[in-house]
Amino acid sequence: MKKCFNCDKNGKNMYGYAICDSCKSKLRLFTKDTIKRYYSENPESFPEEIQRRLDVLDKDYIKKRMKLLHIQEQLKNSQIS
Ligand SMILES: [Zn+2]
Repeated sequence: MKKCFNCDKNGKNMYGYAICDSCKSKLRLFTKDTIKRYYSENPESFPEEIQRRLDVLDKDYIKKRMKLLHIQEQLKNSQIS
């Protein structure tokens, strides 16, 4: 069993990440009824909006990671002490 991405407990696979029950409950995942409600309010744009948010999130993650990796690289390459 894989370790939870967020702590040291054993986790189960969720969309390619290992997560434990405790951390999963803290995600406050939407219930089926909540999702149905949002969907029925806007059947065309709700799925598009979710995809749009995922795309923004992925790009934001990469930008932030590049920025931090750049700092780390500079630290390794220079005589900062
Ligand atoms: Zn956990």
